[in-house]
Amino acid sequence: MAIKPILPPAMLGILGGGQLGRMFTVAAKTMGYQVTVLDPDPHSPAADFADIHIARPYTDPQALAQLAQTCAAITTEFENVNADSMRWLAQQGVPVSPSGESVAIAQDRIAEKTFIRGAGLDTAPFLAVNNAGDLAGDLSPYLPGILKTARMGYDGKGQVRVNSAEEARLAMSNMKHQACVLEKMLPLVAEVSAIVTRTCAGEAACFPVAENQHVNGILDISIVPARISQALLDKARSMALQLVEKLDYVGVLAVEFFVLEGDRLVINEMAPRPHNSGHYTLDATVTSQFEQQVRAMCGLYPGRPDLLRPVVMVNLLGDSWGENNAEPHWEVLLTAPNTKLHLYGKKEARIGRKMGHFNVLADTPDAALEQAVAIKDTL
Ligand code: ADP
Ligand code: MG
Repeated sequence: MAIKPILPPAMLGILGGGQLGRMFTVAAKTMGYQVTVLDPDPHSPAADFADIHIARPYTDPQALAQLAQTCAAITTEFENVNADSMRWLAQQGVPVSPSGESVAIAQDRIAEKTFIRGAGLDTAPFLAVNNAGDLAGDLSPYLPGILKTARMGYDGKGQVRVNSAEEARLAMSNMKHQACVLEKMLPLVAEVSAIVTRTCAGEAACFPVAENQHVNGILDISIVPARISQALLDKARSMALQLVEKLDYVGVLAVEFFVLEGDRLVINEMAPRPHNSGHYTLDATVTSQFEQQVRAMCGLYPGRPDLLRPVVMVNLLGDSWGENNAEPHWEVLLTAPNTKLHLYGKKEARIGRKMGHFNVLADTPDAALEQAVAIKDTL
């Protein structure tokens, strides 16, 4: 259903006020919209920029009613948002994107992988494990494998590598028998992601494909364009576009892929929101992923996703901070004229906590990568 374009200075609502909500809020405010953030954390990063911060739980009826009454459109920044809250808001007649249905699929690995297969796209071989009995049969097609909790996993949390059926069963009982997927470990040549924007009128735009390197299950570096064949780049984009069509998705959807030997691509997972691997778009594309989120929720045409220059994004985790939150040494980074620092305003640095990122723009992806790694070493 097409909506009448929502124009500034309309009030936009977002569930979640972490760094993604913060960058969304900056994009919306830049365009002249107002923003209400719902996030129980009184120090939510998005609250620094939002017009209104409702510091209440995501399921708080009064808070949701306030959003429904005051916002022209509503979105979310995290996939574990309560899908029922999203559905309730939509029932009040406010345009909500992405839909509660899309969020519900993306936040459950069983529903997600089943949907992707149903759309005719490839995933790693997986077994839906709703209870211990599902692990009773022959597990050899999925071994060696990874047992992943179906819900609430992120940054490699809620995952155990298992080499045998016995280990899988033990891991399941250690997971307190939550629903899981048992997924075959695949030999990865690379990991890439494609981020798509789709409007309620069905217009879609896909950002350039990013090549992603993880450390300890957390994204470390994104390299754009990804250093894979043109045929694979095209395939990743067309698979991501196929997925948003099948979902009848409205908003920004990130699709993560595994690149396998023999130029094969399988979909790992999707996120119904802007994605860490798309932070390069803040500096290196005509439109950022956060502006796209604003455009999609407001029923505007997607902005152009074209890459202006090759770019490398480096995540800044709390690990780069010293004792007592001592700041990293920013001098070299801030002196480099082709480097852009983004900090999320988090007061407390913890190991593994995403504190910010920086983008390095250069003539080639390899040149950007070399400089980015050198700069990180000076922090
Ligand atoms: P999260 O939701 O925590 O990002 P993922 O399913 O994306 O969980 O897994 C995190 C990382 O673990 C992936 O980016 C990849 O590096 C590795 N991984 C996950 N599943 C597999 C697999 N089937 N084969 C090989 N590596 C995997
Ligand atoms: Mg992932």
